[in-house]
Amino acid sequence: AGDHKRRVLKDVFGFDDFRPGQATVIEALLSGRHVLAVMPTGAGKSLCYQVPALVKGGLTIVVSPLVALMQDQVAALRLAGVAADTINSSLDRETNVAAWRRVASGQTRLLYLAPERLMTERMLDALSRLDVGLIAIDEAHCISQWGPAFRREYEDLSQLRGVFPHVPIIALTATADEATRADIEARLFAGRAETLVLGFDRPNIKLAIEAKQDSKRQLLRFIERHQGKSGIVYCLSRRKTEEMAAFLEKNGVRALPYHAGMSKEAREANQNAFMSLSGVVMVATIAFGMGIDKPDVAYVFHTDLPGSLEAYYQEIGRAGRDGRAAEAHMLYGAGDIRTRRMFIDEEDTSPEHKRRSHRRLDTLIGYCETAQCRRQVLLGYFGEEAQACGNCDNCLDRAPRADGSAEARIILAA
Ligand code: ADP
Ligand code: MG
Ligand code: ZN
Repeated sequence: AGDHKRRVLKDVFGFDDFRPGQATVIEALLSGRHVLAVMPTGAGKSLCYQVPALVKGGLTIVVSPLVALMQDQVAALRLAGVAADTINSSLDRETNVAAWRRVASGQTRLLYLAPERLMTERMLDALSRLDVGLIAIDEAHCISQWGPAFRREYEDLSQLRGVFPHVPIIALTATADEATRADIEARLFAGRAETLVLGFDRPNIKLAIEAKQDSKRQLLRFIERHQGKSGIVYCLSRRKTEEMAAFLEKNGVRALPYHAGMSKEAREANQNAFMSLSGVVMVATIAFGMGIDKPDVAYVFHTDLPGSLEAYYQEIGRAGRDGRAAEAHMLYGAGDIRTRRMFIDEEDTSPEHKRRSHRRLDTLIGYCETAQCRRQVLLGYFGEEAQACGNCDNCLDRAPRADGSAEARIILAA
């Protein structure tokens, strides 16, 4: 049998080979099974549903949480000659109507929708009259209350299975520990999905944690080692992103703030500068990052403790996507733990949810305080076994001890 999926990969997307996991996922979907694909950022999750969408024919519905992500994907697909559409709130009515006409007439192969738009009775009713061949749910961890990015609109997606009983569904995410994974499977598939979990290791990212003393000075010292490189600095509060960015600017570093309290225009201007120039430092809250695909980010620096090990993993994953040496550097202090505990206690959530959040935080603290290889701990959390990596502070501190140079370094530094 001619390998149709490989031909699509080559002819439409211009790639010779599938990346690890892609072919397996595509095969499962083409044989009608549901799939939960847990693959790291940059692994190539989009092709896992785009290729079968084109192999199968019919309409593929893609659910995505952000309008900007949808627009990017649709634009990229159109460039590759694929009939892709999105109907969303940022487009005017006429544009949306025109898109719907293409969908209804069977021209559109992939339709990108936000969950709240898909899950209206009218939309579901209209779509269920069409030849829907596949449903893809991107950033699927948003469905889990235990996940780091829960979105209420995602909860309704659990009805999809019932509305389209014969259509394979694929859920894709880069972050899912066992509990989140089980939650996604229960909600979307009633537990019946093929699950593929793939290589979380990003060996080119050096992992390090430093005791927090004077975060401004520590940040500046770090950045001076990376002059002219693009980097992301994560801060806990909006105010701090502004302060840090101003401090860096004062010290000759091109730095821009980014947080949800800024106007949309200001945010977009700063994001565009970061994306299109090199050597810009983005000082941001977690509002910045989802879907950011800038290959040459040399480091991610956390001035404050992230919310969980998953959040940390996702945030540092924005470094080194070009495969070059990159660094993930975090400042860690007891005050941050207190702040995080307080946040959790003050959340408007159930006691069970709070308990889980505290447990998540404990895991992250364990990672910060370990004397073991950090990568082993990090990957272990995602269910992967690994050798000591040689590229984290703990491995590097241990390595030279045989000839006494580690002690020498400590003495010299003191
Ligand atoms: P993810 O959603 O997993 O973060 P994307 O789907 O955005 O990843 O893909 C990341 C990058 O990898 C994109 O630039 C994409 O074109 C590229 N890519 C995906 N699959 C392949 C492949 N088989 N060969 C080469 N490049 C690929
Ligand atoms: Mg993606
Ligand atoms: Zn290590």
